[in-house]
Amino acid sequence: MHVVVIGSGIVGAGAAYYLARKGAEVTVVDGGYPGEATGAGAGIVCPWVDHPEDDAWYRLTREGARHYPGLVEELGEDIGYAKVGALLVAEDPVDLEPVRALLRRRHPDAPEMGEITDVATPSELFPPLSDTLSALLVPGAARVDGCSVRDALLRAAVAQGARVRRGVATLTPGGQVVLHPLARKAVDERWNPEATEEERWSPQDVDEQRSREAAGQGPASHGVGAVGRADEAGVQDEGPASVGEEPAGLRQGPVGQSQGPAGQSDAPVGQGDGMAEQGGSWRQGAPLVPAAPPSSTATRAPRPEGDGEPIEADRVIVAAGAWTGEVCRPLGVELPVFPRRGQIVHATLEGVDTAWWPMVLPRVGPYLLGFPDSRVVVGATVEDVGFSPRVTMGGLAEVIEAGLRVAPGLFAATVTEARVGLRPVYAPGRALIGPVTGRVVVATGLSAYGLTAGPFTGELAAALALGEEPPIDITPYAPA
Ligand SMILES: Cc1cc2nc3c(=O)[nH]c(=O)nc-3n(C[C@H](O)[C@H](O)[C@H](O)COP(=O)(O)OP(=O)(O)OC[C@H]3O[C@@H](n4cnc5c(N)ncnc54)[C@H](O)[C@@H]3O)c2cc1C
Repeated sequence: MHVVVIGSGIVGAGAAYYLARKGAEVTVVDGGYPGEATGAGAGIVCPWVDHPEDDAWYRLTREGARHYPGLVEELGEDIGYAKVGALLVAEDPVDLEPVRALLRRRHPDAPEMGEITDVATPSELFPPLSDTLSALLVPGAARVDGCSVRDALLRAAVAQGARVRRGVATLTPGGQVVLHPLARKAVDERWNPEATEEERWSPQDVDEQRSREAAGQGPASHGVGAVGRADEAGVQDEGPASVGEEPAGLRQGPVGQSQGPAGQSDAPVGQGDGMAEQGGSWRQGAPLVPAAPPSSTATRAPRPEGDGEPIEADRVIVAAGAWTGEVCRPLGVELPVFPRRGQIVHATLEGVDTAWWPMVLPRVGPYLLGFPDSRVVVGATVEDVGFSPRVTMGGLAEVIEAGLRVAPGLFAATVTEARVGLRPVYAPGRALIGPVTGRVVVATGLSAYGLTAGPFTGELAAALALGEEPPIDITPYAPA
């Protein structure tokens, strides 16, 4: 069976890996769109503190987290995965009680979270932290490097015969894939370590691509750390960002000032995720669904060039992240998937070993993660501003200011990078995994949980495409 996977973020790469492992013929197509979420993701894998009111969501993220140790072993390479633990921090220790109760309730079915302990002085474990904080330690929480996971999955898929092609994929009404060329080199070293110097990106490629974009021709450059480019839609519509949507990252900020997709000014943001009110959630403030359903004009996929080349396939998996609705439109289905922008800052603390610091998940404010090479990651904004993958002054200011309030010891850290990504959000609120036609399966909508559940979701999509029974019941994620 030949399966075409559209999108090689963490979900598409996961699907390709599991398909290839099962002996399917696989072609992965990616247009390298700026704003790909996987390259910007922070890397928190700590599902037990979220979705107390939604068992189906929780099950997907819990299984996704559970999936990692086996995957790390299978891939046999460093994907930045480490069980460093999570410090749930709050100014007032009373605020830790609801999440303590939630973790206690979930522990019997998820003992991998480890034994929860109180930490009197969290700054002993994460030195830059403010010394006014109280904390609980969740030892089973892990961090992961999204780019490394994606790349390792693609490499493993390629090693088992999968083909990766660069280009913009479109679908015909019957679900056939048409590949349109990119106006740039076709090989990307991220999955092909043997790419020659000529095949790799050069600054000239980027300049050339930017000129093309400015002229409205074709997609923009891809890349980790890509800071996007001026995007005529949405620029004037953007309001203040909110910081800290990722798993357990949370925020009591100007969420209500954010805007709905497509930049509808002054649209009230959807309700909080309701967890705080239910007395168990760690996360609060981040809206789960947009204020208004995204309009069809909200999507901004690059215009495909030329007639394109049909790719014969028995099945198609659309794992095109925030662009999934646009890709599926020719099938006659409207999937309300929209982009939720996140801006995130990377900094280094010269000479400090940050590799094994636990991640910090405040009840209010941004999250922080330590990585090897003295790197600390602080994120992220939560913005419904349409397809506008840009790093903004306001976004950076919010992340940095809020980060310094939680961790004043980062004051002198060197800012090395700012990343931006578009989290794919499915308006009904959960992940979106299932068939949309007899031959096309979609897998997206993982919003702030895609690095946690992405590879597992890829496995679910692969099983569906091959007509196999998925490892968990996927009916809760079926297209509405
Ligand atoms: C700032 C930030 C922090 C985050 N932190 C965390 C975290 O700590 N933990 C966590 O679990 N999750 C986190 N997330 C969420 C996670 O990153 C996303 O949910 C996940 O990466 C989504 O993966 P995806 O494969 O669905 O989409 P993407 O990674 O966006 O990939 C979609 C791909 O499809 C391609 N594509 C689209 N349309 C076409 C087309 N027509 N033809 C060809 N190619 C196409 C694009 O080029 C892109 O490469 C974070 C996200 C952001 C932005």
